[in-house]
Amino acid sequence: MDVQAVRARIAEAAARGGRSAATVTIVAVTKGWPVERVREAAAAGLAEIGESRVQEALAKQAAWPDGPVHWHLVGHLQSNKVRSAVGRFALIHSLDSIRLADALEQAAAAAGLVQDVLVEVNAARDPHKTGVLPEHAGRLVAHAWTLPHLKVRGLMVMAPLTDDEAVIRGTFSGLRELRDRLATTCRLPPASWHLSMGMSNDFEIAVEEGATLVRLGTILFGERKP
Ligand SMILES: *Cc1c(COP(=O)(O)O)cnc(C)c1O
Repeated sequence: MDVQAVRARIAEAAARGGRSAATVTIVAVTKGWPVERVREAAAAGLAEIGESRVQEALAKQAAWPDGPVHWHLVGHLQSNKVRSAVGRFALIHSLDSIRLADALEQAAAAAGLVQDVLVEVNAARDPHKTGVLPEHAGRLVAHAWTLPHLKVRGLMVMAPLTDDEAVIRGTFSGLRELRDRLATTCRLPPASWHLSMGMSNDFEIAVEEGATLVRLGTILFGERKP
């Protein structure tokens, strides 16, 4: 795991984007890997750990209960997993419907905590992908904003699978513009909201375009075995 090399690439991309690399945090995505990878990541200074599935994340948390890391849910959250997920993740990146917001609110209220979330946007408008359509994001943010046990901390996107850099860049800059607009309607400085965007194959473009959280798996841990 060559974290230094990845950090150097992030720093260069941040410089190209005219930003400070200190505003970019790596979320190390350990899905498909055993808890040993989480320990290695933590030893390498990566304190933010991303998982795609609730059950897999909870199993690793149980295997390392006092691990000095923060867990992120980067994958889709099914409504039947809401109760087990609430309070177990520092940040849930995948709020994508009003129904899910209401379920999270109810579970967080019952648990007596406030759950931090990002609104996931389906920027490519792909019917097979998760995320709220861009034109419905404002309504979802406004709704979630009224819920006392949910805290919207920003937006998340996955770029479409393509080699067309202009399409990828447009996805990321579009999310940044949407973030700036929606944070402003919540009377917040846009920079106080996260932009979770960029994976192993496109994180440099994401950082150039303003990513504050990059979700990296393969580039840190190698190809997952099927
Ligand atoms: C798996 C996954 C990642 C990490 O992808 P890599 O290409 O391995 O870096 C990031 N975000 C989400 C939502 C994922 O499911």
